[in-house]
Amino acid sequence: MNLENLTHCPLCQSTEFTNELVATDYTTSQESFQIQKCTKCHFVFTNPRPSAEAIGKYYQSDSYISHTDGGKSILDKVYLMARNFTLRWKEQLVLKQHAQGELLDVGCGTGEFINHMKKAGWQVTGMEPTEGPRAKASEKIQNKIYASLQEINQSYDVITLWHVLEHVHDLNEAVIKIKSLVKENGTIFIAVPNHESSDAKVYQSYWAAYDVPRHLWHFSKTTMKHLMTKHGLQVIDIVPMKLDAYYVSLLSEKYQHPQQSGLAKILKATAEGFLSNRKASKETNHSSLIYIIKK
Ligand SMILES: [Zn+2]
Repeated sequence: MNLENLTHCPLCQSTEFTNELVATDYTTSQESFQIQKCTKCHFVFTNPRPSAEAIGKYYQSDSYISHTDGGKSILDKVYLMARNFTLRWKEQLVLKQHAQGELLDVGCGTGEFINHMKKAGWQVTGMEPTEGPRAKASEKIQNKIYASLQEINQSYDVITLWHVLEHVHDLNEAVIKIKSLVKENGTIFIAVPNHESSDAKVYQSYWAAYDVPRHLWHFSKTTMKHLMTKHGLQVIDIVPMKLDAYYVSLLSEKYQHPQQSGLAKILKATAEGFLSNRKASKETNHSSLIYIIKK
């Protein structure tokens, strides 16, 4: 294992961390990783972690290869329905801030979201560091997809990061660059898991959205706001992603009770997802949250 140690908290620079829990990579390596918490600002991160150069192999898994459009099983169909629903839902969320314009999707994967937005009349640009999905996205939108943020110099009305920021090694650098790419009245949408959600508390080290070692950062509302404030950005709204509670609960059931039947997993995950959303609704502490951010 090629691990690197974070010595300073990227939020507050403190050097004192406590061990929070140990989580296992159930999808790829079966290796375990320590999750630590900064004693000063309570930011939570995977530490030590694979370096940017070494992390590639942890993405070599079927679960990280995007589903094709030709899925035939019932689960594939459910997945595609949920995906289409989510695409339209994200579009509506963007439309509340901007009627039209230029959009950059950071970590665009195979380009589902930018393709959807392009069809809705937006000028779209994508960035995707992994070669395979980048080529697919490029083919889909018939345009170049950038391989890194550093190559991009334009500015955008909307920048989206759908479950991306938790994967980025140079956290502060990424936020600084993204801020420089958004227009003065533009909007940034950042979706990340919420380790203070009720499903995270129920499943603890089995909570699928710890997703070590791919998830380097584990945000709460407090630490995300802290990160944005640090860079002169403002969180103007927080919107729950309710479907994520079901999906994350289903994966967590699988990790915690591998012997359980498929039906039992689905029933328990549905119950847990429902409970998590219900408990979360009072204080917006859902499984995953979208932060809507302005300069
Ligand atoms: Zn800190």
